[in-house]
Amino acid sequence: LVGKSDLNKKSVVRLNERLSIGDRDILIIGGPCTVESQAQMDTIAQQLTGSIQALRGGVYKPRTSPYAFQGMGTNGIEILARTSRASGLPVVTEVMAIQQIETLANQVDMLQVGSRNMQNFDLLKALGEVDKPVLLKRGLAATIEEFIMAAEYIVSHGNPNVVLCERGIRSFDNYTRNVLDLGAVSALKHLTHLPVIVDPSHAAGRRELIGDLSRAAIACGADGLIIECHPEPDQSVSDAQQALSLPAMAQLVESLRPIATAV
Ligand code: PEP
Ligand code: MN
Repeated sequence: LVGKSDLNKKSVVRLNERLSIGDRDILIIGGPCTVESQAQMDTIAQQLTGSIQALRGGVYKPRTSPYAFQGMGTNGIEILARTSRASGLPVVTEVMAIQQIETLANQVDMLQVGSRNMQNFDLLKALGEVDKPVLLKRGLAATIEEFIMAAEYIVSHGNPNVVLCERGIRSFDNYTRNVLDLGAVSALKHLTHLPVIVDPSHAAGRRELIGDLSRAAIACGADGLIIECHPEPDQSVSDAQQALSLPAMAQLVESLRPIATAV
């Protein structure tokens, strides 16, 4: 189902009446790793309207340590929904469990499956029955075939609105958090008709590398980017080292324009 039989076939995934991923314009999703407060989300929306087209922010966080902040949960969903209503920007947030799907689907525009859940097959099947687009992130060490088959779970259960996200894979070097696999971006565009976006933040793990990786991703044919940013990057409750300031985010998006028009 997700495989490409016709070379020119390309799915467009609609986020709302105005916005879609996979058509001519690249789509930039920006926001914090974790939703922390209403003021944080409103500031981002206000300062980046015009630069970004959608907001991200986790309210259920898959933290490595069970003692680390696990996210605001339902209070965070309310924050996302209010910021979205006030700004007109659609929101993307991670769903970690089947029982979270219904509430999230009623309040947000796109459901993210994080790397750690890419092969949570019951979650994928349940998302196949939902009328909401799904942003499926590549597993920490998933092959391209495993990634495609994970998308197939969602599509074969009835939801064709899947966007693939390359976010870096594990390797031996820990200078960067993960290794951004740009070859996979190109391969996925050849092998499937689904839109492909790139998350340079979780790939790099270091804010000074994110601009270059973003430009490379767009040059490689990515349909968009999802990037972490924060009004006070060093104060981020999670992933502070990779958070961009809001001016840096706006500047980065500006630098993509000539590349996006050239590809
Ligand atoms: C995230 O985007 O918030 C996240 C946890 O990313 P990943 O699942 O790619 O690690
Ligand atoms: Mn993060």
